Amino acid sequence: MFASLAARIAASGLIVVFALASLAGLLADASYRTSDSFRWVIHSAEVIETTEEALDDLREAESGQRGFVLTHNPAYARSFSRSIADARRNIDHVVTLTRDNPLQKARTLKIASLMKQRVVSLRQPLDMGLAGDFAGATAFIASGRGRELMDAITVRIDAFLEAERYLQTMRGEATEWRLLWGKRVALIGASALALMLLFGIALLIRSIRRPLDEVMRAMTDLGGGERARVDTATGSREFTRLAQGYNAMADRLEVAIADQATSEQMLQIANADLRRNSEALRERGGMIELLGGMAHRMQAARTDDELAQIIRVFVPLVLPGIAGALYAHNNSRNLLVPIAGWGGLAIRSDGFAPDQCWALRRGQSHYVTSPGADIVCAHASPDETYHCEPLLAGGEVIGVLYLQGLIEAESRFQLTVLSENIASALVNHRLQRSLREQTIRDPLTGLFNRRYMEEALTLEIARAARSDAPLSLVMCDVDHFKRFNDEFGHDAGDVVLQAVAAEMRSRFREGDVVCRFGGEEFTVIAPGTTAEALMKRVEIVRNAISELNVRHNGRTLGPTSMSFGIATWTQAMARDGVGLIQAADAGLYQSKRDGRNRATISRLAA
Ligand code: GH3
Ligand code: MG
Ligand code: MG
Repeated sequence: MFASLAARIAASGLIVVFALASLAGLLADASYRTSDSFRWVIHSAEVIETTEEALDDLREAESGQRGFVLTHNPAYARSFSRSIADARRNIDHVVTLTRDNPLQKARTLKIASLMKQRVVSLRQPLDMGLAGDFAGATAFIASGRGRELMDAITVRIDAFLEAERYLQTMRGEATEWRLLWGKRVALIGASALALMLLFGIALLIRSIRRPLDEVMRAMTDLGGGERARVDTATGSREFTRLAQGYNAMADRLEVAIADQATSEQMLQIANADLRRNSEALRERGGMIELLGGMAHRMQAARTDDELAQIIRVFVPLVLPGIAGALYAHNNSRNLLVPIAGWGGLAIRSDGFAPDQCWALRRGQSHYVTSPGADIVCAHASPDETYHCEPLLAGGEVIGVLYLQGLIEAESRFQLTVLSENIASALVNHRLQRSLREQTIRDPLTGLFNRRYMEEALTLEIARAARSDAPLSLVMCDVDHFKRFNDEFGHDAGDVVLQAVAAEMRSRFREGDVVCRFGGEEFTVIAPGTTAEALMKRVEIVRNAISELNVRHNGRTLGPTSMSFGIATWTQAMARDGVGLIQAADAGLYQSKRDGRNRATISRLAA
């Protein structure tokens, strides 16, 4: 019934109010009774006083009667009358006062009757005196008649007063007792009420504090991250609702926190993904930049050696920690020759045949991740882990990238771009080289052409002029060449030219520039050599050519010979080479004139 805290407080309030009202009632009653008792005490005092006054009045009347009889003074007679009237009035008042006490009233009525009789006995001598019979009156008084009556009155009044005084004492004690009762009621009632109030307040505080403490503890624990719940049996409806509300809130809060944690986790995963992706992008960007830089350098490479250097520097940057080598087809495409090796790998300088590599055979990547995982290329060791990446250009396999170790999936992109770049650089390089060769070489003999010779000569003259080193030039011409054409046809003439050219290329020094000047005329630029020193080599060449036995279409074309003119550059000659050529040409002309198949040092110093 009192499940509600508010109802309990209201009920407690009602009880307190009721107790207060009861206490007030008790106190009011005690006060009323006390004042009633006081009234009765005062009543007794009034009765006693009035009775005593009535007796005094009667005695004064007696004095007045005697005074009049003795002095004849009528004033005493008047005093007598007044006193009699007072005594009557007083005793009547006492009768009225004692009407609620039958015993005292009866006593009072008896006294009043005796007093009437006494008044009659007093009035007789007075009346005599008034009638002038003072002697009779005096005698009457002296006889002492009426004295017994007066004594009887006095005795009765004493008894009456004693009874009334007893009553007064009783009433005084009753008053005192009631006063004490009132005090006790006030003291005990107030104390009991105060105790009751204290008890009620303590109970109230306890019934509020216990569940409040519980909720606060749970809140603190929840704040500390614990899974805190409140017991809903709190003892009051209000706190039960509070506990239920708190529990529901904590449940929702936990769900929200869990949701938030999940969201945060997902966010972190997304962030990590993003970081990874951006890292991968950054790496890929760096890699693309690196590969771009490599491609750019490879396109600019002029020689095979430069190309090999670039590959040796960049491939370990693109694929760190992986040793490898680059092999490319030779011109006749029957051998894979090494271009570059890196990472301390011992490259096969002799190369290998194309069919020794499965990547080349299939035109696809070929790798062995562990011994026995796939067929091993013949150019690799039988138990090694390696990767062969074919280099494809225009649908044609031009080489292979051989890598020792495994290429991880994430490095495949680099490998693909790398192999494409290298392939295109190789093709480009070969194309450039072939174009350059075409512009500087004579297609028939493979020697440098006249244009290249002129450029090379200008350079060499400049160098010789700078360093003061000697520079010589040979001009030579096949003797009676026209005869080969005429007798065996133009093709036979070409074969002779190729044979002569081959001899010259193989017999002059490495640094000498052997060129076809035009027709059946050749030029050799020989830096660092004087004409005299050169003469020895020219003689060797001349002898070799004269010993040639050129055949064409199964026929021997007859003896070949060549005439030579040699000149050395002097500071007096022009720097464009024209003077030196003219000088050598003069030597050649001299050889022809001297009977051909000989060499002449030009004395011309233009
Ligand atoms: P000499 O001993 O005086 O030098 O006599 P020669 O016959 O060698 O001299 P000539 O200048 O009369 O003849 C050169 C010939 O070479 C003329 C030309 O038809 C021929 N000739 C020039 N270029 C070529 C070529 O590329 N192939 C062939 N087969 N013949 C060429
Ligand atoms: Mg000629
Ligand atoms: Mg000739």
